[in-house]
Amino acid sequence: MSLQNRLLIVLSLLATLAGCSGEKGGDDTASSGQVVNLYSARHYDSDAQIYDAFTRDTGIRVRRIEAPADQLIARMKAEGAQSPADVLIIADAGSMAIAADAGLLQATPDAGLESRVAANLRDPQDRWYAVSRRARVVAYDAAKVRPEEVATYDQLASPRFRGKLCVRSSDNPYNLSLLSALIERWGADRARAWAKGVVANMARPPQGGDIDQIRAVGAGQCEVAITNSYYYLRIAGSPAAQDKALVGRVLLAWPSLDGRGAHENVSGAGVAAHAPNRANAVRFLNYLLEARAQGIFASATNEFPVVAGTPMPDRVARYAAMPVDPIPVGAYGARQAEAQRLFEEAGWR
Ligand code: FE
Repeated sequence: MSLQNRLLIVLSLLATLAGCSGEKGGDDTASSGQVVNLYSARHYDSDAQIYDAFTRDTGIRVRRIEAPADQLIARMKAEGAQSPADVLIIADAGSMAIAADAGLLQATPDAGLESRVAANLRDPQDRWYAVSRRARVVAYDAAKVRPEEVATYDQLASPRFRGKLCVRSSDNPYNLSLLSALIERWGADRARAWAKGVVANMARPPQGGDIDQIRAVGAGQCEVAITNSYYYLRIAGSPAAQDKALVGRVLLAWPSLDGRGAHENVSGAGVAAHAPNRANAVRFLNYLLEARAQGIFASATNEFPVVAGTPMPDRVARYAAMPVDPIPVGAYGARQAEAQRLFEEAGWR
């Protein structure tokens, strides 16, 4: 074993201890002794609602470790067959595909799962399934921008928005998968030109997360911002007076990719290749696609459900059926390295 791998395992163990002490989900008093170990790159506190409900309904305790996708993937590689991971969950289809192609996930063919998740939102080899959907769209200053000026992704790169666009850094998986989709649809040359146009339009160097970009539009620092749909909807669902005022001034546009609809991404989940608690992992995966969990994704994180017929708050329902590019989302994985390169060439930090 290389020194680097040894180091990764030590770091992993340290992170495990840290992860356990900060554990929010699960019920330590569950008497069955059953457990499912979750490696999650989702970063939403409300996920504890799903894990707690799972434990209540099944008696299976959820132990979770949270870290960015690239760290979890490196960690599972280093742990190899000794990995305690049962389920990997990542809020990015490209990263799920990369994990699957690295041999970190096992196929879980299941007629129930396949029937609930559209074919373009799951791995063709059944190694992961989408559990929630989101679109990467645009928040805009309603006083300065007309909706028809943000109807396509091309327009974000046009001189109309020179110095007026806010967006986060290029190493973020949401941006990597967006550019991966553009490469897939447009080819590398046009995707690179788009990234250059966006860089030319930046109001400031990339900083912060998507919520920060939306707030920057509200503060007049930029006219348009690229954001995942649920961050806008989270603000829209906030009872705070300043948030209500913000969504009155800053609206959500739904750009279309060559007339197909908005760029869609998903949170995906799959059973780890060496899952020590495989049966519990499969049960957990199924649970994420059952009505209760699907409803929590919609009500608590403002994501769009994967399963049709899930009840959701009005603010989420308003966008849930909006058109999205029907591309197989796993295709983003194979393009992410190229997307990273194009971002560097474009000077997108
Ligand atoms: Fe997010």
